[in-house]
Amino acid sequence: MITNKIGIYPGTFDPITNGHVDIIERSVMLFEKVIVAVTNNPKKSPLFTVDERVDMIRTVVQGMKNIEVESFNELLVNYALKRNATAIIRGLRATSDFEYEFQMALVNRKLASNLLTVFLMPNEKYTYLNSTIVKELGRLDGDIADFVPKEIHSRIISKLDKR
Ligand code: ADP
Repeated sequence: MITNKIGIYPGTFDPITNGHVDIIERSVMLFEKVIVAVTNNPKKSPLFTVDERVDMIRTVVQGMKNIEVESFNELLVNYALKRNATAIIRGLRATSDFEYEFQMALVNRKLASNLLTVFLMPNEKYTYLNSTIVKELGRLDGDIADFVPKEIHSRIISKLDKR
């Protein structure tokens, strides 16, 4: 445990998957408080509204200690500093994530030299998983039960059915 340290885990979470949950569970082993920060960037054209994404994450982390869920709509480093975060947490699944994450981490370090970026690897069974594949599968009536938390499974299905 890094005492009194706050980690911020930013992302689109459209929707939260078991891979994201894996990273959250690892993060709370490292930080005293973890803020899951949902980006409100409409450029990403998310399927779920930011409020729906926040609400789904809150449902999933209910019962887990030391986690806050919020949305943000500004430069990540500014938001992180405002929230007194020590580190940005990102998940690394495969080498395909590396180049983009490396660039972001270096840019963020340039912008805020005291803010660390910490990469965590999920359980291998989640290395192929992302929100896009969940939406694609669900849209085509594929079984997504192993990929998303059970508490929000029906919410995802009904959103995809309405489209
Ligand atoms: P972003 O648009 O910021 O990439 P995502 O919601 O796709 O938002 O991902 C947020 C973070 O979670 C990123 O660091 C991403 O690498 C990580 N992540 C996404 N899916 C997984 C997974 N299956 N296992 C581990 N980390 C993941």
